[in-house]
Amino acid sequence: MHVDRRELLKAASGFALFAGLPLRGVLAQAPRQYPFTLGIAAGDPAPDGFVIWTRLAPRPLEPHGGMAPQPVAVGWEVAEDRAFSRIVQSGEAIARPELGHSVHVEVGGLRPARPYHYRFIAGAEFSDTGIARTTPAQDAAVDRLRIGVAGCQRYTSGYFTAYRHLAAEGDLDAIFHYGDYIYEGGARRGCAVVDGQTVCVREHDSDEIYSLDDYRHRYALYKLDPDLQAAHRAAAFLPTFDDHEVDNNWAGQWDESGTPAEVFLLRRFVALQAWYENMPVRRAQFPANGQLRMFRRIDYGNLLRIHLLDTRQYRSDQRCNMPGDRNCRPADDSGPESVLGDEQEAWLRDGMGGDRGWNLLAQQVMMMPFRYPAPTGGPALYTNNDSWSGYPQARQRVRDMIQERRLTNVVVATGDVHKHHAGVIPSSDADLLSKPVATEYVGSSISSDGDGSDMPAGWEQVPAANPHVALHNSRRGYQLFDIRREEWRTDVMTVDRVSVKDGRLSRVASLVTVPQKPGIERA
Ligand code: FE
Ligand code: CA
Repeated sequence: MHVDRRELLKAASGFALFAGLPLRGVLAQAPRQYPFTLGIAAGDPAPDGFVIWTRLAPRPLEPHGGMAPQPVAVGWEVAEDRAFSRIVQSGEAIARPELGHSVHVEVGGLRPARPYHYRFIAGAEFSDTGIARTTPAQDAAVDRLRIGVAGCQRYTSGYFTAYRHLAAEGDLDAIFHYGDYIYEGGARRGCAVVDGQTVCVREHDSDEIYSLDDYRHRYALYKLDPDLQAAHRAAAFLPTFDDHEVDNNWAGQWDESGTPAEVFLLRRFVALQAWYENMPVRRAQFPANGQLRMFRRIDYGNLLRIHLLDTRQYRSDQRCNMPGDRNCRPADDSGPESVLGDEQEAWLRDGMGGDRGWNLLAQQVMMMPFRYPAPTGGPALYTNNDSWSGYPQARQRVRDMIQERRLTNVVVATGDVHKHHAGVIPSSDADLLSKPVATEYVGSSISSDGDGSDMPAGWEQVPAANPHVALHNSRRGYQLFDIRREEWRTDVMTVDRVSVKDGRLSRVASLVTVPQKPGIERA
């Protein structure tokens, strides 16, 4: 492919990242093999556009994805029609070896509240095409939104069939991802144990991951999944991360095994760089100085404001849960403690309001109190200190934000626990039936924890211990938010099995929340 250097500079000058940087050396030829093996994605829509993403990897599981260590020009097109006869925006971007040959284009100049088709071109090769919707204009009156909710996709635990069903829902405004897009563990971590034998649906092709190339490789392994690729083609994602994009249950600068902070922070930074490289997110999320600013907002006209939260990077260390736990704060530590960190908390307080129909706190770990059956040896019921229940002061400050403004329209979307739940955050931790402050929908998992069941073994006492929670389901799946001004409906979707391909989809519940009063009703 002939590339005019001036044209390239023009294309590149739109990118703050590249501004002022002369293009050194010669751009390499596009690879001769099909380079779009990891699929394409769109994300973070705005009224005038969205991000489109791809990553060149002609031999995705070989070192550097089979790419030579040189920058490569990649063309892109956005059209109004699936046949690309009405192209409305196009350009060229540079896939750089420093960024794992990923491409992030912030498309602008589009019209609000419309679907668009996009694709990439490298040499003679065209990518698949994807579809993404722009958001409505800032003050537009919006009747209805449909947002998918998914996350927790452990490769070793099952097939990603739920994603294929989610893709088939069609015409979604976006898909919120609550994290655990990859899992960092070794080859057989997360496999089922059946009669004492470890049974893997699929295996990771490496040990636990630590280096930038390890994380890049793990993303490549996951992104080869055809069902995940189908979900990306179907709608723009709103990506966030939870723990497994880095390491199980990390908190701020601490991992769970007591690694010195300055050492863990190196791992955290390469993991977050790999997250950036593999997600359709904006320049504002470019990793720098050991951090990545993930929290951000997406508005949908007068109907919805989505606050995408980061509940990992700025939090205090977890409290100890069980006797003998190490690398944690004492269970009775009096703080101060934080989940969001001061800056994000102030940002959230400033941005919450009653001028839109709904506020969605799109985040990772359960915010409502929840009483679990303990593992053997613990108290009969216990709280998960990796959730907001381990940070009661921080949870109270979120309640205060909502109550100070007398907001009744706050919905929380959560993942992490690999179960579907729906419940409320009561105004008092001590009284679960006290006046609800917000409604919380907890999504299960795409595959993590394997097939599952409607009610997990050993959970007989859980519903009675959690009278503020209306739903418990331990099957894999996703949720679908169908949002209108007068009601918020959540369809809770499950697949019967993920240990075999082609699991069947069912809707196990359709739940309704109204904006005047937090709570769950069955539709
Ligand atoms: Fe998970
Ligand atoms: Ca998690």
